[in-house]
Amino acid sequence: MELRLLPFPLTKAVPLAISRGTTAAVEHLLVEVEQDGLTGIGETGGFDTGHREFTTAAIAAELQALAPRLRDLAPQPLQALEPLLASLSPPARCGLDLALHDWWGKRLGVPLHRLWGLDPQLGVPTSVTLGLGSVEAVLARLQRWWTQLPATRIKLKLGSPEGLDHDRALVEAVAEALDRQQQIGGPAAELQVDANGGWDLEGARAMVGWLADHQVALVEQPLPPIEDPEADSAAFAALELDCPIALVADESCWTLADVVRLAPYVDGVNIKLLKSGGLAEALLMAQAARRLGLEVMLGCYSDSALLNGAAAQLLPLVRWPDLDSHLNLVDDPFAGPTLEADRLHPGVSPGLGVALTTELAGNATARADRSGGEGPWPLPGA
Ligand SMILES: [Mg+2]
Repeated sequence: MELRLLPFPLTKAVPLAISRGTTAAVEHLLVEVEQDGLTGIGETGGFDTGHREFTTAAIAAELQALAPRLRDLAPQPLQALEPLLASLSPPARCGLDLALHDWWGKRLGVPLHRLWGLDPQLGVPTSVTLGLGSVEAVLARLQRWWTQLPATRIKLKLGSPEGLDHDRALVEAVAEALDRQQQIGGPAAELQVDANGGWDLEGARAMVGWLADHQVALVEQPLPPIEDPEADSAAFAALELDCPIALVADESCWTLADVVRLAPYVDGVNIKLLKSGGLAEALLMAQAARRLGLEVMLGCYSDSALLNGAAAQLLPLVRWPDLDSHLNLVDDPFAGPTLEADRLHPGVSPGLGVALTTELAGNATARADRSGGEGPWPLPGA
């Protein structure tokens, strides 16, 4: 198979601030594999969880180095490619895993959710995200979401650098706004919070009971992730008994092994394809989490409708979808998952159910510029 990489920009309509910083725009990679006249597409890009960081340039270099070895291999059987995929970082593996799954689904002529036997009508509303900021800015962001979709599930970012008092002020203001909306005839909305590892144990213990009193449904990653798995599990264990609301691991949970490790101490896990290394691991994680009595959240970074469309193939297994990043882009070149009110459904075309809707012409220029430089960008097949 031929492997091709193409960088493309993604620009947020509203920049997103979380406890670790603010993102307004990113560069992601389109990963294509071509064999027998069929092209499978995948997406990857850099991200940072506080304890692990990947750059898009380093991911591109990894995939580029792999291209000559792929030339003598076919996309099927996927199993034969497993050792090669295992040698990659999670986001590099994700890009290739998605392209291979897309090729496989296209070859068979069916969307992945159908191959997996999932019912695409089982989807529930996706949350939309309110980043950190002043109370006024956060309420304005909520209003903006309401002009776009019903937004009955709100994820509020906490772990503010201004401290717990500011976090509490944000929760109170958003909870009041949700109440007001319901009083004037709007739908009831569920409030979730995500500290992105921005609290210490003492702060987290103080916050979780207070959040329960404010009808917050769940708290995601209250404590920073720790590289040592035992210490990371111990941190969740130390909080779990005092936590009256659902406790969800995100930055601490990357693989099936993490799901199993964290299962005694959490109520749910946030699966993201860039962390898991793509759909093969994510499907295992979602199925195992459910068997272990955990709820599944399915999340995203600054991803386009390609990554979120791939994730959407798993939506029938998910209690808390959180795939809103592509709904906040001004230049998304892809379309796939469909939105019905605030409920996402997987695309029904074969493979990932995603299509490129605009030429990546501007990005082809970026590719040409870079191919003459010292960077990792003289791309195979380009
Ligand atoms: Mg999170």
